[in-house]
Amino acid sequence: CGIVGYVGAQSALDVVIAGLKRLEYRGYDSAGVAVLADGSLAAAKKAGKLVNLEKELVAHPLPAGSTGLGHTRWATHGGPTDVNAHPHLDNSGRVAVVHNGIIENFAALRAELAERGHRLESETDTEVVAHLLAEQFSATGDLAEAMRQVCRRLEGAFTLVAVHADEPDVVVGARRNSPLVVGVGEGENFLASDVAAFIAHTRSAIELGQDQVVELRREGVTVTNFDGSVASVRAYHVDWDASA
Ligand code: GLU
Repeated sequence: CGIVGYVGAQSALDVVIAGLKRLEYRGYDSAGVAVLADGSLAAAKKAGKLVNLEKELVAHPLPAGSTGLGHTRWATHGGPTDVNAHPHLDNSGRVAVVHNGIIENFAALRAELAERGHRLESETDTEVVAHLLAEQFSATGDLAEAMRQVCRRLEGAFTLVAVHADEPDVVVGARRNSPLVVGVGEGENFLASDVAAFIAHTRSAIELGQDQVVELRREGVTVTNFDGSVASVRAYHVDWDASA
């Protein structure tokens, strides 16, 4: 129900958790985070309120990293359990993805992935995306390109944000029929389902268009359409009072 992504010089975990708190008003049943650190990916997720996730992070701290993502879930496919909470990882544990919305053709994609030897661990429609991204990343070595290829296969409504341990300074997002906004900072950039998540850091924003993918790095943002063509975007100033 809420999504936050971050790449920059701050602790990604701190930025992501603070952002998720700003989205809590939307309601949710589970929460999770993933951070890239020291060449690998670390994730934590818990059913229930953010406070449950925060307790888990105290009991089992994640390594400090400056690239990460987070999610608050409103379950549509699979009950509100720890396993069904996002992020979802592929079998290598190097890709993490969070998702808002519904992937209508997930059953066919699950069957296809199972046939190719993937083990799917949750009951969600989302998990197929982690496995498909891992496959396409192996073929292309480029997470944004992998995301474009995967999105062309998905039906339904989705905001997706993903990271891959082999591209430690990159966060990729995509959207169709579901919102995703980029927050443009200096030496850092943000992704969120709602500007409220990053307004404490920047008021410069880019609204992603329909069927677009964004690649976020510390120093810049690249937006492309699902077909790979470069999209022209313009940042606008968010001038509403977010302290209310
Ligand atoms: N359909 C996904 C799930 O049930 C995402 C739900 C959401 O938008 O939070 O896990």
